[in-house]
Amino acid sequence: MDFHFDTKAVNFPRKTKGDTVSKVKPIYQTSAFVFEDLDDLESFYEGKKDYLYTRVSNPNTDDLGMGVADLEGAPKGVATSSGLSAILAGVLSVVKAGDHIVACEDLYGGTYSLFAGELPDFGIEVSFVDFTKKDEVENAIRPNTKLLYTESVTNPLLRVEDLQMLSEIGEKHNLVTMVDNTFATPYLLQPYRIGIDLVVHSATKYIGGHSDVTAGVIVGREDLLAKAKAKVINLGANLSPFEAWLGCRGLKTMSVRMERHVRNAAFLASELKGVEGIKNVYYPEYVSERGNGAMVSIELDEGTDVKTFFKSLDWVKIIPTLAGLDTTVSYPIGTSHRTIPESTRQKLGITKQLVRISVGIENENDIVAAFKQAVEKSL
Ligand SMILES: *Cc1c(COP(=O)(O)O)cnc(C)c1O
Repeated sequence: MDFHFDTKAVNFPRKTKGDTVSKVKPIYQTSAFVFEDLDDLESFYEGKKDYLYTRVSNPNTDDLGMGVADLEGAPKGVATSSGLSAILAGVLSVVKAGDHIVACEDLYGGTYSLFAGELPDFGIEVSFVDFTKKDEVENAIRPNTKLLYTESVTNPLLRVEDLQMLSEIGEKHNLVTMVDNTFATPYLLQPYRIGIDLVVHSATKYIGGHSDVTAGVIVGREDLLAKAKAKVINLGANLSPFEAWLGCRGLKTMSVRMERHVRNAAFLASELKGVEGIKNVYYPEYVSERGNGAMVSIELDEGTDVKTFFKSLDWVKIIPTLAGLDTTVSYPIGTSHRTIPESTRQKLGITKQLVRISVGIENENDIVAAFKQAVEKSL
């Protein structure tokens, strides 16, 4: 039968051969999936088929969720539209109106805005406390507390949280524990394996690794992940197939990238210690046997000129994010920590002289030289 031009234009013949097997999984850039007949459609609802509609599930987004879950040693993972939506889906899988969360006080700025600015509108209360103090965490727990939330390595002061302790507090008080593992990555740390119930990642950072994708992943306990998945579907927080595909590509090279990132960061941190003009170098002492991460923060002396420092950075770019292949710097009080109350910033030591460095995979001596000359000029 010969169709009209406009019908043919839409339904052109697709030449797909069943035996065409590509080395890399194709991008299923489709909003929905085709069914042969009503029995075939019914088989989706019977759980015999995986794909119906991309907001619900898609082979590429599934790969990213499962890929990260596998590395974390967790039974299930779901990819989402961003790190923040992964956090929201995880939180809402545990709490509802009338519930309470205890969170660490030096959260990533975006997470702080979500917790302090949005969740109260849904009737969810959050207390912010110092997670290095067991007493403070336990004293903040109320009868309606459901969730303990922290970051494995905090931002920008790079404090390493005691996740073992957190897991024990959670167990003792029958609370769900949730950790943002973005800075450490599964390469360095796998919180699920030490008893944390939910682990989230901004895959925008080291998982994607090339600064070209915004994505998130949540992994963890199967029962909670089923709820988190429902939130992602119902809130429309799904990840697009192409972004998921980029995330999967990043995941493949994560360990080699991290190895180099971590080595360069350790070298930079040691080289900047004791340099005239630098008051403090923040670099974690122990994250894992594989190293201590790729972020270094420095506090310049009061006498130095921060503006001149930033202006003198040569090839190092000022970018308010982290985890790219290139070395970049950010100014926490001007960007990520703008929304954190001044009193909390003071207490934590997030000062106007603080600079956060995301160490890239370039030659380590070039990186050190770029910072040393910038500090010198700022004196
Ligand atoms: C970037 C980041 C987030 C937010 O992730 P997005 O992908 O920007 O939504 C959350 N936590 C940490 C630690 C981050 O660095």
